Amino acid sequence: MEALEPSCLQDISLSSSVSRADPPCNTSARKTTNPPFTAHRSSHCHLTDYSPDDKPWDVHRALADDVGGIYAGAVDFERYAARMADCAGVLRFGWVENHLTGENSLSLREAHFCRVRHCPVCQWRRSLMWQARFYQSLPKLVEQYPKARWVFLTLTVRNCLVEDLRDTLKAMNGAWQRLIKRREFKPVLGWVRTTEVTRGADGSAHPHFHALLMVPPSWFTTHYVKHARWVKLWSDVMRLDYLPNVDVRAVKPRAPKEGQTALDAKAQALQGAVSETLKYSTKPADMVADEAWFLELTKQTHKLRFVATGGALKHVLKVDQETDDDLALTNGDGQQDDGSRLAFNWRTSERRYRRAPNADKGASS
Ligand SMILES: [Zn+2]
Repeated sequence: MEALEPSCLQDISLSSSVSRADPPCNTSARKTTNPPFTAHRSSHCHLTDYSPDDKPWDVHRALADDVGGIYAGAVDFERYAARMADCAGVLRFGWVENHLTGENSLSLREAHFCRVRHCPVCQWRRSLMWQARFYQSLPKLVEQYPKARWVFLTLTVRNCLVEDLRDTLKAMNGAWQRLIKRREFKPVLGWVRTTEVTRGADGSAHPHFHALLMVPPSWFTTHYVKHARWVKLWSDVMRLDYLPNVDVRAVKPRAPKEGQTALDAKAQALQGAVSETLKYSTKPADMVADEAWFLELTKQTHKLRFVATGGALKHVLKVDQETDDDLALTNGDGQQDDGSRLAFNWRTSERRYRRAPNADKGASS
């Protein structure tokens, strides 16, 4: 798997290291008392001036405008466009001090989300939220199952017409239910499974499952299931007359590096598989590439569940808990802020978030 920093080790609020004492936009307005920025003239500043690491907000919110624009032009989906136009319109941040460096950075504290399934902002936040929850539950899982290993499984079927997507996804869900009852699957301690749909170059749809399985060490010895057997199994439970593409790979354990705990090493080893499993269901580039395809996809996937969990991982993601605070990732990060609420609002014409002092909320309000 990829050797990236595990997201549990990153600041999940994507805050920056901009120092409170050195505001990027208006140093002449520097104040020494809290809140640091409430009074200065900053209406021409953008979120990325304050916090370069919050650039993903601009990127995802601009994509939401693009996707919302597709919905706005379709009579059946105008209500989605209206909801998305409102999504994350105002972001309010507090200042959080890094006790090691003494630097202050912005950390999101308030936002409202539209929860339209294919909204690029909501997909992105949901993915971060699920990843954060996964890593939060990891210490307990490691404690309960110290010897457990992880397997990343991808199950595909041949591309289908986007008009047949709903039937195909229902067949895949049924097949998964049969798969987990098979003898080969029995040793699995827990699993998380998500659905992704990509667009084929010919305008078809390519639905597939990503699954993260927690397995006992015996999985690699007495219970070993060869790749060819996985292909046959998936073909059987899918009731296919061909052999589908299946990818199965073990997450390689890593020895802790210097200064790293065993838990951090485990989290790092899992990072690639976790981010691949708990990501968007359809990438925004596929949505905007073909409007008719995307509108049909929306119709076909209406109210279908795109995530399932089982065994020891059954409650890890808490998929039914999705408040604005959950999506803002303000809960449980343990960071004390200064009580101020700096507002930035979305500017469609600029495709950036801009400082909006009039929408600020004061300290301790
Ligand atoms: Zn949204």
